[in-house]
Amino acid sequence: MEVFKTKSALKAFLAPLKASGKRIALVPTMGALHNGHISLIKMAQQNAEVIICSIFVNPTQFTDPKDLEKYPRPIEHDLAMLADAGCNGVFMPDVAEMYPQGADEDWHIDLGNAEFLLEGEFRKGHYQGVTQIVKKLFDAVEPDVAMFGQKDFQQVLMIKNMLAHFSLPINIIICPIIREEDGLAMSSRNIHLSDVDRKNSLVLNQSLKYVADHFDEFDLKELETKAKAFYENIDGVELDYFTIANGATLEPATSKEENSVVALVAAKVGSTRLIDNMIIK
Ligand code: AMP
Repeated sequence: MEVFKTKSALKAFLAPLKASGKRIALVPTMGALHNGHISLIKMAQQNAEVIICSIFVNPTQFTDPKDLEKYPRPIEHDLAMLADAGCNGVFMPDVAEMYPQGADEDWHIDLGNAEFLLEGEFRKGHYQGVTQIVKKLFDAVEPDVAMFGQKDFQQVLMIKNMLAHFSLPINIIICPIIREEDGLAMSSRNIHLSDVDRKNSLVLNQSLKYVADHFDEFDLKELETKAKAFYENIDGVELDYFTIANGATLEPATSKEENSVVALVAAKVGSTRLIDNMIIK
């Protein structure tokens, strides 16, 4: 497995592979890898011959400097996991390589109204930062296909809107959420959970599952009220939002007959903010 720190080294590696007709997949990550990330590598291997994983903790998508600072960076562990998974190349640029003009470089594109809902409401400017770095990674790799996790449901919508904005011919593949045995969605942030937080964190999956399991039984308002009730009286858990939304617009679903319905949640568990979702239909 090759490791690249610069765009030019990465491009030099990819050029002959592209010339010989190999399909290239990109799996963008921020590192602190777990089996959710590895499932994206495995899915990439089913869709391309050369797999590039990027590891870059992107400063422009963090709204809280403390969150950026404490983001885990276990790089040796990450490289070992990727080598073990059969990844072909890792792109690990530093901030200056991705933002030669500084991380306050101008960037603003129209991502539609969904940019400002849910995560966009709690993390102002987050999706501008996400689409900014993903565009830079796409420019560096020029992949045929890129893998993203359903775990970040809203992020996938935003990236698709960014692709449409620039008319980029990249196929986006969405990979299912990988969970721990007890249902907690895997996340790089889970290592910050204390033992009590870890128990409390199960409420996210439980409330989502409740909505999925009882979707035919109650109306949308009742379902949402019942899901939110899961969060009452748990010390150390603070709900940011729980919504049953239209999967295309992320506006609250107004009817169960809508084509795509997804339940999405974000909550602070101790000092760790977790997100999760479940596609209902
Ligand atoms: P991150 O390193 O958190 O930016 O995530 C990198 C990619 O892995 C994103 O496309 C995420 O949606 C995806 N991902 C993160 N956690 C999971 C999970 N538990 N299951 C599947 N994909 C995931």
